[in-house]
Amino acid sequence: MRPEVLNSLFAEVDSFDGVGPKVKKPLDKLGLTRVRDVLLHLPERFVTRRAVTSLDDAGEGEQIVLALTPVEHRVNRSGRGPYRVLAQDESGNICALTYFGRASFTAKKLLPVGEKRWVAGRLDRYGDMLQIVHPDHVLAEGSETLGRLTEPVYALSEGLTQPKVAALVEQAITRSPDLPEWIEPSQLAQEGWPSWVEAIRQAHKSENPAYRDRLAYDELLANSLALLLVRADNRARKGQPLKGDGSMRARLQLPFPLTRAQTRSIGEIEGDLQQDAPMLRLLQGDVGAGKTVVALEAMLIAVEAGAQAALLAPTEILARQHFETLRSLLAPTGAEVALLTGRDKGKARESILMGLMDGTIQMVVGTHAIFQDTVQYRNLALVVIDEQHRFGVAQRLMLAGKGKRTPHTLAMTATPIPRTLTLAQYGEMDVSRLDEMPPGRQAIDTRVVTQERLADVIEAVGRHMAAGQQAYWVCPMVRESEGDDIAAAEARFAAVRERFGDAAVLVHGQLKPELKDAAMERFACGEAKLLVATTVIEVGVDVPASTLMVIEQAERFGLAQLHQLRGRVGRGSEKSTCLLLRGPTLSETARERLALMRQTQDGFLLAEEDLRLRGGGELLGTRQSGDTPFNLATLEQITRLLPLAHDDARLLMERDGGLTGPRGDAARILLYLFERDWGVQMLRGG
Ligand code: ADP
Ligand code: MG
Repeated sequence: MRPEVLNSLFAEVDSFDGVGPKVKKPLDKLGLTRVRDVLLHLPERFVTRRAVTSLDDAGEGEQIVLALTPVEHRVNRSGRGPYRVLAQDESGNICALTYFGRASFTAKKLLPVGEKRWVAGRLDRYGDMLQIVHPDHVLAEGSETLGRLTEPVYALSEGLTQPKVAALVEQAITRSPDLPEWIEPSQLAQEGWPSWVEAIRQAHKSENPAYRDRLAYDELLANSLALLLVRADNRARKGQPLKGDGSMRARLQLPFPLTRAQTRSIGEIEGDLQQDAPMLRLLQGDVGAGKTVVALEAMLIAVEAGAQAALLAPTEILARQHFETLRSLLAPTGAEVALLTGRDKGKARESILMGLMDGTIQMVVGTHAIFQDTVQYRNLALVVIDEQHRFGVAQRLMLAGKGKRTPHTLAMTATPIPRTLTLAQYGEMDVSRLDEMPPGRQAIDTRVVTQERLADVIEAVGRHMAAGQQAYWVCPMVRESEGDDIAAAEARFAAVRERFGDAAVLVHGQLKPELKDAAMERFACGEAKLLVATTVIEVGVDVPASTLMVIEQAERFGLAQLHQLRGRVGRGSEKSTCLLLRGPTLSETARERLALMRQTQDGFLLAEEDLRLRGGGELLGTRQSGDTPFNLATLEQITRLLPLAHDDARLLMERDGGLTGPRGDAARILLYLFERDWGVQMLRGG
């Protein structure tokens, strides 16, 4: 149960004064549904305003505060267009205060003609007139806000204004309870950090980074602590020791020798599986490093030991592909493998369910459908989760919680994240790294081409297809609402279809599963030669005959993501090419990113560089959020503070693993505050 002291923070935003449906909606859009969320909605930046007495002293583009007296209200005669209030400073200069839409109603009331007001906003010019569009503040003289010239600027959504959000934050702060301290006192003293409540208050008012650091640290500490609790809980659980006799593995006829990294990882897994406590291991390996075979060997150990194994894939496409791979590799072993997805219905589904229940099916591959309550296993002892980064810890725990004995878990990820982030995301697991590629992989010839040469690129794709080879064409996003500069996959598809007809297929996340699968299948069997796609193909698709990849607006992608995408080619024996299409202007960081893509194919190196470049503070375009499990902590803060927070968490666990002492109590509050409830739940003996 959540500690009562947090109740006020977890109340819905409705409980604020002045929040009706009209405000709730835009708040919702920002993910602010509870008091706590508003409290942790920290300013994006601060503006510093300058108080001036005359417009003559102010520059265009400057944030100013000055006294103005309205002299005339001007409404556009057509009833459309902006509402302008002409106002005069003390030296008689005129400035327009301009309002659009519904805001004009408030302008009427706020700015009566002849009455002096203090106005704060950004000065600019409209034609030959000075103006301030939607002033941030309009106040009668003597207001307290005037003294506060540095102000927070919050992320907004349509329907919210800065003063509105600031007022809500103010209310949230008023409701913040004093909370007991969870940070080690010596750590607090060393960093000079204030209490949590003080830090949150100040973080909304001051640019001093210490306040934000403290809050980021809190979030990191909560995460590390929760992961360590999961780990401790796992150690105490009863698993099922699995010792295979090697009989089935001996019958495998792999078309290649294993790499040393694969052999080492399999050895580590084999060791884990023999233990009483369930395995909790992450297999980290770059795209194409050969994780599937490692998973296969692990699953065979389970089957040899008379148990069942399940392989969970994040998408149906991937589940189907894994199934095909496993089925053909398993043929000589005699192991029975089935595919189960949400789409399987009727008799086929019934017979798979029966097989799993009576144990005649020893391995199952599927989407999360394999963990529905209707699916019963005779003896499920190993769960392999592919592309683990698509699943959260909480989700994984739910899977592990099925059955009396906890199955062994092998999580696999192709995201070669930097070591610091590995700790943040997977701190509760043991890690095996496939840091070596199978031999004979050819370097992918990577080139950067400007978008202007689109026609040439299409011709090149045509020649490639005419030579009997296949290609991918990646577009940034489908039906993106903001900005028309994003090439929509659908529009691009329509264009290439005119040129290539049925040889081109389209796949994106909003397609019906049947259509998506049909398209994928046509491409996988070689009937279709060009696959136009959004980033859905990022995850695990394996078509070795595909040797060309075009990525449009490559500058919008992060390094790690580009690397993931590029990993789709260069899988066969033919030489592969990757064309990175770029827009006309590039930021320094984007330029560096594309250059790195040309220079190296080492995923771990690119991941470290990605972190370095993004730590530099550039806000990247699409899909960068969700890379880390944090809302407050920035990459820079993670790099700097996570090791400290992790040590702090470890120390706390050593001293008070049950979180029963005073600091343990405080730590529980911390876990709830940052929504690591699943960490606390570990304490109930699971
Ligand atoms: P990923 O780690 O991305 O899941 P896969 O398991 O799909 O990689 O393997 C990529 C390709 O490499 C597959 O075609 C697989 O058959 C092949 N492969 C795996 N291990 C080896 C190896 N030791 N030697 C040669 N090829 C291998
Ligand atoms: Mg894979």
